[in-house]
Amino acid sequence: MNAPVAASLAAETADLLARLGVDPARLSGGTLAVASPITGEPIARLAEAGADETAAAIGRAEAAFRAWRKVPAPRRGELVRLLGEELRAAKADLGRLVTIEVGKITSEGLGEVQEMIDICDYAVGLSRQIFGLTIATERADHRMMETWHPLGVTGVITAFNFPVAVWSWNAALAFVCGNSVVWKPSEKTPLTALAVEALFARAAVRFGGVPEGLLEVVIGGRAVGEVLTDDPRVPLVSATGSTAMGRAVGPRLAVRFARALLELGGNNAAIVTPSADLDITVRAVAFAAMGTAGQRCTSLRRLIVHESVREALIERLKKAYLSVRVGDPRAAGTLVGPLIDAGAAARHEEALAAARAAGGVVTGGEQVAVEGAAGGHYVRPALVEMPAQVGPVIEETFAPILYVLSYREFDEAIALQNGVPQGLSSSVFTLNMREAERFLSAEGSDCGIANVNIGPSGAEIGGAFGGEKETGGGREAGSDSWKAYMRRATNTINYGTTLPLAQGVTFDIG
Ligand code: NAD
Repeated sequence: MNAPVAASLAAETADLLARLGVDPARLSGGTLAVASPITGEPIARLAEAGADETAAAIGRAEAAFRAWRKVPAPRRGELVRLLGEELRAAKADLGRLVTIEVGKITSEGLGEVQEMIDICDYAVGLSRQIFGLTIATERADHRMMETWHPLGVTGVITAFNFPVAVWSWNAALAFVCGNSVVWKPSEKTPLTALAVEALFARAAVRFGGVPEGLLEVVIGGRAVGEVLTDDPRVPLVSATGSTAMGRAVGPRLAVRFARALLELGGNNAAIVTPSADLDITVRAVAFAAMGTAGQRCTSLRRLIVHESVREALIERLKKAYLSVRVGDPRAAGTLVGPLIDAGAAARHEEALAAARAAGGVVTGGEQVAVEGAAGGHYVRPALVEMPAQVGPVIEETFAPILYVLSYREFDEAIALQNGVPQGLSSSVFTLNMREAERFLSAEGSDCGIANVNIGPSGAEIGGAFGGEKETGGGREAGSDSWKAYMRRATNTINYGTTLPLAQGVTFDIG
């Protein structure tokens, strides 16, 4: 049942980094130890940037911005097109590195790279679609319009669980919008970031060269993130991570009136109604709750089930939970890989203990021993039947724990769905058109993402991604998210021979 771990990860990682073109100087010496969650085995040791080095990187990025903003947007799109080509060529290697560094199963590691390719394609199109409005003016012989200009250095702070895709959502847009990027990846997953830096460098050479500093990757933890957050030369910081991180970063940006694009924790629910197609529901719940070992911001954490279908649904879910293959994420057939580290495993234990103390009945949730991976932290996904939405149910525990609650009236289900501090993603499973439409209406789900008959996780890049309340309010990727990376100017032009003032104001100086 549990797949054994096969080969040395450190050797394979070194091979992959060499093939992906990572500068060996980036990999020599230093204080930051990187381990693979598959075995807990150390796979690299890197130097961390200090405050001075981070400030110098921001300085280079600022200089690069001044040159890059003058390059026409469709030409900037060509750089991102080439980056997409590099990602296509390196998809297998980079996907494998994601699997080794984060512990994602093979198809999810590859899927992460595909998401990067998709956002590059999107951004290439966007590079010819950056437009403003022409607005009717009340004054004769005047024209009013808005123009969108590059903003400046875009700071990008990313979380471990989407170590490269989240960067690309920001960077592909930032580059076509005319910005430079300083990226601080998670200290838990810096190797995939260095690989992307190398692929970007290849694209830049094929482009014919880009200003030095257009992409700066600064390695380190919170201290590096704080330098980026506080530097007045960075007008926008896009920060993805826990709500605790957002609580620290948001006010610091507000103090200096910088833009904050916050993508924080979720506590996502699905409502299962009496008319739900249970075949679809079971499959959707299984992927959303157990996939990525529950380590997606959009992972399904709460199942709100009508009491008439509860028994049938739980019986089917229990079968899936008890049979799903937990183990080496590289092995064919594995669906649930490891948690990222010992801290995550401890928080998983604490949440289950708190749920039991609050009257929860737990199926699964036990540690799983994987042959050859004693240093990895593997757990069987847990299905927890709760008497009420209390204790750990209103928190985000970044692990595969699904709390099950019951309801009788649809209003009660919506109130439960909205009754948590987070507001990222949500779903309803129903064949009843009135329920579906109410869920999507102003009095329905209060989340940034609301779905019908699909789970809450696995977003496509075409839509705007992000959530409300403690999720931070940011929006990334598709729709009009690009506007966060640009500054808008409203321009009024007088082509007449008089000077009428707005609102009929007169100011006659004779
Ligand atoms: P984390 O908050 O521990 O770290 C995220 C990043 O923030 C890291 O790069 C870290 O070094 C940096 N950081 C931490 N404190 C900082 C500070 N005070 N100043 C500047 N930078 C700081 O999160 P994690 O454990 O890496 O990731 C998991 C969390 O991320 C979950 O809560 C998950 O829901 C969330 N997440 C959200 C989204 C989204 O789009 N909403 C996407 C992915 C992950």
